[in-house]
Amino acid sequence: MGIIGELQDRKTGDSDILRQIFNQSPAIEYLLDPENGSIVDANDAACTFWGWSRQELRTMRIWDINTSGQKKLEDQFTETRAGITHFFKNKHRIASGEIRDVEVYVNPIAIQGKTLNLIIAHDVTDRRLAEESLRLAQRALASAPIGILISDAQQPDMPITYVNPAFEHLTGYSQAEVLGRNCRFLQGAERDQPEIAQIRSALKEGSSCEVTLRNFKKDGTLFWNQLHIAPVRNDAGTITHFIGAQKDISMQVAANARIDQLAFYDPLTDLPNRRLFLDRLGNCISVAQRNNVFGAVVFIDLDNFKNINDAEGHEIGDDLLREMAQRLRQALRQEDTVSRLGGDEFVLLLPALSDSSEISAHMVQIAIARIQKAICEPVVLGKLQHQIAASIGVTLFPKGVESASDLLKQADTAMYRAKAAGRNSVCYFEPTMQAAVSARLNIEHDLREAVERQDFRMFLQGQVNAAETVIGAEALIRWHNKDGGLISPMAFIPVAEDTGLIVPMGEWMLRQACLAIKKLEAAGRPIRIAVNVSPRQFRGADFRDRVANVLRETGANGNLLTLEITEAVVFDNLNEAISKMRELKELGVHFSIDDFGTGYSSLAYLKKLPLTELKIDKSFIQDAPTDMNDASLVEAILAVASHHGLQVVAEGVETPQHVDFLKERGCPLFQGYYFGRPIPGEEFVNNLLTA
Ligand code: C2E
Ligand code: CA
Ligand code: CA
Repeated sequence: MGIIGELQDRKTGDSDILRQIFNQSPAIEYLLDPENGSIVDANDAACTFWGWSRQELRTMRIWDINTSGQKKLEDQFTETRAGITHFFKNKHRIASGEIRDVEVYVNPIAIQGKTLNLIIAHDVTDRRLAEESLRLAQRALASAPIGILISDAQQPDMPITYVNPAFEHLTGYSQAEVLGRNCRFLQGAERDQPEIAQIRSALKEGSSCEVTLRNFKKDGTLFWNQLHIAPVRNDAGTITHFIGAQKDISMQVAANARIDQLAFYDPLTDLPNRRLFLDRLGNCISVAQRNNVFGAVVFIDLDNFKNINDAEGHEIGDDLLREMAQRLRQALRQEDTVSRLGGDEFVLLLPALSDSSEISAHMVQIAIARIQKAICEPVVLGKLQHQIAASIGVTLFPKGVESASDLLKQADTAMYRAKAAGRNSVCYFEPTMQAAVSARLNIEHDLREAVERQDFRMFLQGQVNAAETVIGAEALIRWHNKDGGLISPMAFIPVAEDTGLIVPMGEWMLRQACLAIKKLEAAGRPIRIAVNVSPRQFRGADFRDRVANVLRETGANGNLLTLEITEAVVFDNLNEAISKMRELKELGVHFSIDDFGTGYSSLAYLKKLPLTELKIDKSFIQDAPTDMNDASLVEAILAVASHHGLQVVAEGVETPQHVDFLKERGCPLFQGYYFGRPIPGEEFVNNLLTA
C-alpha cells in the first residue's frame, strides 16, 4: 500500500478505491514533499512517462528529473505555498535521457498535519513542437520572396483565406482587400486566356499545375504572373485548400521578347528578318502541300536605292527603306509576310492563294500590281521628291520538294532576270508562268487595240421552248486577234474585266444586241435577246444611263432585252444591286441570273430581286441524266423557280438525253449545241427571218 492509502482517514475504508483512482488516472500525477523535494508517491501514468518504477521514484528528488534545478524549484514551492501561482512550465529529463516539456498544476494538500504537493502534469512536448513548426511555417510564408495565396476549396467559389506580404507587395492589394474573394479578380478583363482553362481542369482533377498568366495589379498595371497551384488534402484525402505561389516574371518576359525581336526582326524596319521569313516559309510549304493550295515568294529589289543612298546619305536611305517597308505592309493582306533581308532587298510571302495554279498566278499578279503602285508613289526625302522602282522576281510553291531556301533562291534568280530586263519589271521563275504572264500582257495589249477598232463580233445562240420554237437568243462576244485566231472569251473576258476594257466592250455588245432586237421586231419576228453583263459594267455608276442611251439610240424595245448577271454581282452589295435593278426594270428590261447553282445559290434572296429568269449552269445539265446529285439540284431549281414565278433556261443542252430529262421535269426553255451553236449575229437574224 502506498502513502495515499496510509495517509487516508482509516474510518472511511475508502483507501483502496482512492489508491485505484490515483493510480489509474490517465493524467500524470505525483506527490512531492515541498520540504525536501522528495517524490513521495507517483501514479502509473507518471511511472510510464518518466520510465522509472514507483520504488525508484521514491528514492529520488524532483530536481533529479526537473531540469530547473533545486533552487528554482524551492522558489516554486514557496510561491505555491503563498498562493501566488499553481501553474508552472517545466522540463523533465526522463529515464531515457530525453527532455520533455511539461505543464504542472501544483495543489498543496494537508495530510495529517503535513503539507504535501499533489502535482498533475501534462506532457506538452508534442503540442509545443507542432506550435513551433507552425510558427516557423508562418514565419517562412511571411518572409518568402514569392507571393503566396491560400484559398478554401470547400467553400463555394473558393474564397481566399490567406495571402502573404509578398503577395500584397506584388499585387498592391492588402490582405484585407482580398480575403473572402475568388482570386480571378487578378485577371482583370482578360478572362479568356487559354491558361485559365488549364488551371480549371487541374483544380477539377485535384492535381497541381503551373501556368503563366497575364494579371493586373491594383493600380491596373499588367504583370506576367508565373503561378503554381497545388491542392492541400486532409487526412481523409479530401482537398481542403489550394495554395498558389506566384512570381512576377514580367521582366523576364520583356527580356525574352527583346531577344526574339533582335533575333527575328530587322531593327531598321521592324520587319521579320531572313531567319523568321525562312521559318514562316517552311511552315507555309508544309501547309501548302497538305492542303493543296499555292503560295508565292516575291523577291523585291529597289532599282535606284544605291544612287539615293550615295547621294543623300545613309539617314535618308534609312528613311526610304522604312517608308518602303510600311508601304509594302499596307499593300498586302494580313496573312502575308513582308520581310527585309538586308540592304534594299525585301521578300514577301503570300500564302494560301488558291488551289488552282492559274488563279494563284492571277492573284499574285494583282498583288504585284498593287505593290508596284505602292513603290512607285513619289516619296519626299529631305527636300527632294523621288520616284522609286523595283525589280521583282516571283516563284510559286509547292512545286516539288523545294525547301524554303530553295524557293528564296528561285525568287532571287527571277529577280535578277527582272533586273536584266530593265527597271520596274517582273519575272517569274516558272517558264510556264512567265509565258502565261507574257501571253496575258499580249492579250491586254491587243485587246486595247481591238476595243479602239471595235474589232469584235456578236454571235447569237438560240433559246427554244418545249415545242422547240426559237423564242430568244444569247449574245456572245467573239474576238479574232491580229493573226486571225479566235480567242476564247474565257481567256480575254477576265483580262477585260481587270483592265476595265470590259466596259466599252460590253456596251458595244449591248448596242449590237439592241440593233438585232430592233431589226427582228421591225420584221415581225420579235424575240428576246440576252446580253451578258460583267460585274464591273453593272457596278458602274452610270450603267442605267448607258443602257437607256443604247435603247434610245437603237430604238430597241426594252422589253425584248434581258441582262444576264451572276449571283456574285448581286451579293457583293445586295441593296445597291436591288435598287439598280429596279431602275433598269423601269426601262422594260428583264434580268436573268447566269450560271445559277454555282454561286451562293441562297434561294432566300430570289424573292427580293426583280428577276425574270434563272439559267441553270451547264455543268449541272451535263450530268443530270446520270448523276443523282445533279439531277436533284436541277429538280430543286425548277421547283423553286416555278414557286417564285420565274422562267428557267437550261444551258449546255447537248444531247437527246438532256432534252428528255429536262422536258420530263417541265423545264420550259433550252439553250445548247443540240439546238444550235452560237453563230454570227447577222446569220442568226437572217435564218430566223427566212425560216
Ligand atoms: P456564259 O454566259 O455561261 O455563256 C454560255 C457559254 O456556253 C458560251 O461560251 C457558249 O458558247 C457555251 N455553250 C453554249 N451551248 C453549249 C453547249 O451545249 N455545251 C457547252 N459545253 N457549251 C455551250 P462562250 O461563248 O465561250 O462564252 C464563255 C463565257 O464568256 C460566257 O459564259 C460569259 O460568261 C462570257 N461572255 C461571253 N460573251 C460575253 C459578253 O459579251 N460580255 C460578257 N461580260 N461576258 C461574256
Ligand atoms: Ca450567259
Ligand atoms: Ca451561263
